[in-house]
Amino acid sequence: MTMENTKKKADRLGIMGGTFDPIHYGHLVAAEMARGEFQLDKVLFIPTGNPPHKDRKDILPGELRYKMVERAVQDNPAFDISALEIERKGPSYTVETLRILRRTWPEHELYFITGTDALREIFSWREYEEILTLIQFIGAARPGFEAGEFLLKVQQEHPEIEGRIHHLEVPALAISSTDIRSRVRNGQPIRYLLPDPVRVFIEQHGLYASEFKDF
Ligand code: ATP
Ligand code: MG
Repeated sequence: MTMENTKKKADRLGIMGGTFDPIHYGHLVAAEMARGEFQLDKVLFIPTGNPPHKDRKDILPGELRYKMVERAVQDNPAFDISALEIERKGPSYTVETLRILRRTWPEHELYFITGTDALREIFSWREYEEILTLIQFIGAARPGFEAGEFLLKVQQEHPEIEGRIHHLEVPALAISSTDIRSRVRNGQPIRYLLPDPVRVFIEQHGLYASEFKDF
């Protein structure tokens, strides 16, 4: 055994949380770039259950969002999916999920991958101080959201998080679930904005076709 093997660094697990209503290439590219940049061994996609921060009342049932993520990650051996949040009853708080992940992988380095828009909200999350001790953050610069200035401000106001929030440049992808939902409603194309098996699933089940769904 070489020194390198005995000194192997802790495994690194990326966590990609989101509503994924539906999942699209913006999510997948951000996760894959984070994997490459931070040498993550795996990225775990965790669709949210009943997100406390979303104002929308018409989010698709977790089971359907889960199935779409399942189809989206199937061809990447480094991507995986967890039903942890959608199986939990009641509103899901990130801090609870992170505690569970920390217990499940006590030796791993955990990285929460998020777009800069979501990163801005960290400080409104319940028990964010604890969140920052449980996991590091990778803030993916999403078009339209300036990250650098925000991160600087946060680090000045909270010096204790120094070195625990990392910046990631992703090739600009102005794709959002909101836009995809509105495209489906308006009969516009969504092909190439998301993996084809997800598009087919949306079409087969008539998802997002009208604002008033009857699930
Ligand atoms: P919605 O429009 O419904 O808010 P969304 O496209 O923002 O959907 P979410 O499920 O809310 O998708 O996002 C999950 C995570 O992925 C968040 O951290 C978000 O910032 C990030 N994200 C979403 N779209 C992109 C993108 N195009 N590039 C990089 N990160 C993204
Ligand atoms: Mg969003």
